[in-house]
Amino acid sequence: MALNELLRNLPSVNEVLNNEACVQLLSHAPRKIVVEAVRRSLDFFRAKIRNGELNRAPSLNEIVESARHILRFELMPTMPRVINATGIIVHTGLGRSMLCEDAIRRVVEVARHACALEVDEVTGERSFRDLRVERLLCALTGAEAATVVNNNAAAVLLILNTLAEGKEVLVSRGELVEIGGGFRIPEILRKSGARLIEVGTTNKTRISDYEAAITEHTAMLLKVHQSNFRIIGFAEQVPLSELAKLARKYNLLIVEDLGSGALVDLSTVGIEKEPMAQDSISDGADLVSFSGDKLLGGPQAGIVVGRRELIERLRKNPLYRAFRCDKLTFAALEATLLCYFDEQSVWTKIPTLRQIAQDEAQIRRRANSLMRKLKRLGLPASAISIERSYSQVGGGALPGQQLPSFSIVIKPSEGDSADELSKRLRISTPSVFSRIQYDAVWLDMRTVANDEVDELARCVANAWHATKKKSCNEKN
Ligand SMILES: *Cc1c(COP(=O)(O)O)cnc(C)c1O
Repeated sequence: MALNELLRNLPSVNEVLNNEACVQLLSHAPRKIVVEAVRRSLDFFRAKIRNGELNRAPSLNEIVESARHILRFELMPTMPRVINATGIIVHTGLGRSMLCEDAIRRVVEVARHACALEVDEVTGERSFRDLRVERLLCALTGAEAATVVNNNAAAVLLILNTLAEGKEVLVSRGELVEIGGGFRIPEILRKSGARLIEVGTTNKTRISDYEAAITEHTAMLLKVHQSNFRIIGFAEQVPLSELAKLARKYNLLIVEDLGSGALVDLSTVGIEKEPMAQDSISDGADLVSFSGDKLLGGPQAGIVVGRRELIERLRKNPLYRAFRCDKLTFAALEATLLCYFDEQSVWTKIPTLRQIAQDEAQIRRRANSLMRKLKRLGLPASAISIERSYSQVGGGALPGQQLPSFSIVIKPSEGDSADELSKRLRISTPSVFSRIQYDAVWLDMRTVANDEVDELARCVANAWHATKKKSCNEKN
């Protein structure tokens, strides 16, 4: 067909919209956006025909498929739900901890209704929104007082700005960490208005290094958890309890940024112990801060526990208002913290703890189940195997710790590649995140929930079989 004829034969926007294939799109997205997607899809094919890249009429299906792609990735790039098959339990890119069922119920309830967020229902008076969780946090950690802000980065900044602005803060050179996402201790200190005084060396810092650095300008000793790295070999840091003694001797504050901050002892499930907030309090910290959505397994939040007088000063800082959390966070945090009052059931109720504590037999069973389903969906036995793998806690906790796990390993078909296959998995619905190793896609079954196995099988089967359909970028 001649070029002009091909162009003339392209359907109009309305013709595409009225087509049956478009009905599904219209039920998922506002009409205005679908119209724009169809317009762009037609422009795309028009340009291809003009450039000589296409010398036939595109089918209506192709036009709708391309519109669907444009809609999903350009015009309406909404956050897809993800099946986390990476084996990284607290994955920042994938939203960190999933909430426990109690927390989910509470979030839904307060999302739908008004709640006594900042008023006392007995007196009817205004109060602080973190007073309710404060009681729970005090009971769980043994601290006198507690407050909650948006995340731990905000908590650290608030503490430094409130208690050390214009003064000096001593930090070991072995603890000047970068957490990721731009959180670097030296930069946070600078922004807070406090002056960082580095003490000791990268691998060794002694109590005498701290003592020698104290001047009349010193306000605080800050201990930072080496969250995401380890120094092994000839290494030494000063324990919190000793720093607390030194701080008392010179009338200084001792603050610890715990990072992940567990409330339960991880060594009871056979892995290394992460520092616990209650230990930091009993070891003498004036304030301890940690994240709500790392090992705690709750919503994003920055929790500070410690001395009442200091917590009250934090609440008076204008930054406290700027860093405050919303009602959904408080609802989820309350429910999460309540789980911790039962030391047994907490390990099964909180998804993050459940995934950590899960035994290998459970993971293996899930892997077997996925394997069976994939075979039923037509994947050849030669393309699937079950292999041993290692999961990680993630979220800046236990960087060296490898949790033995099982993965389903998918070999891409002839002419396909692990990169392409994993990309098709990422853009499937739901989106699937995996790992690539030895030119195969690895699905770590520790971080996949039992009720996700069916969906995962369907996504994997579709992605695996879709090799040949190059023009079609999204598979349902
Ligand atoms: C993760 C982490 C932070 C930042 O916490 P967010 O809740 O992500 O803001 C700060 N300090 C340490 C040591 C951490 O591990």
